[in-house]
Amino acid sequence: MPTILLLGGTTEASALAARLAARGDPTVLSYAGRVANPRAQPVPVRIGGFGGVDGLVAWLQEHRVTHLIDATHPFAAQMHRHAVDAAAQAGVSHVALTRPAWTPVAGDRWHRVAGIADAVAALAGPSQRVMLALGRMHVDAFARQPQHDYLLRFVDTPDHPPPLPRHRLVVDRGPFDAVGDTRLMRDHATELVVCKNAGGNGAAAKLVAARTLGLPVIMIDRPALPAQHAVDTVDAVLGWLDHGADRGV
Ligand code: NAP
Repeated sequence: MPTILLLGGTTEASALAARLAARGDPTVLSYAGRVANPRAQPVPVRIGGFGGVDGLVAWLQEHRVTHLIDATHPFAAQMHRHAVDAAAQAGVSHVALTRPAWTPVAGDRWHRVAGIADAVAALAGPSQRVMLALGRMHVDAFARQPQHDYLLRFVDTPDHPPPLPRHRLVVDRGPFDAVGDTRLMRDHATELVVCKNAGGNGAAAKLVAARTLGLPVIMIDRPALPAQHAVDTVDAVLGWLDHGADRGV
């Protein structure tokens, strides 16, 4: 019987937690603690960082973990690196549950950039009405382009108002749908969308809405992730648990 640590914070991690609970596989799901009221889970939950690679190795050993499943967000690059290193050091089987990146389809008007700094730089110029569909973490960087009228959407009400002189904040939790996102962008008279190439279905509604409205999108490419065994479905993770992990694939 495996003992699993599941690194979460994504829709896919929650879907996997439900399947592991249904199978009766002993699992602890780990949240970073970024969200005030994380989604309830059918498995035990721990919250907060481990204290780097050393802390994660210690946690894995203390809890006799046999399988580490990294289902964190594709932009959580540090956690991915720590997971790979800690699993190797602790001798624990490791897999990443990832999502294929989004690719543009007919009607999309994407301008791809390499990271947050490049997205900020791409906003130089006259004032526009911009949807910053990035969550809360990187919004402060956009204070360098204060001329825009920003639409923000956060999971929680922030402790301090974002440092953007002109913004409207919507507090809401996904998954979102294309009809709702189209309405939201229309209401705000959005002219441009900035987002990360998260992939997956849960966050794709804004891309459909941007396409529907003919809006340009500044698409931030994914950070480089470590070399790792990765699969992109919950079923593939279960297959790995049942057949693959012991063979080291
Ligand atoms: P990150 O930059 O890669 O990680 C920073 C640190 O946060 C890690 O070194 C680790 O601290 C801690 N951490 C991250 N994920 C954790 C987890 N699941 N459990 C325990 N500690 C965790 O990660 P991030 O981009 O801040 O993302 C944090 C969380 O938000 C992740 O769980 C991710 O799935 C979720 N999320 C991120 C994004 C995004 O765009 N980045 C979007 C949606 C959801 P220690 O070194 O102390 O262990």
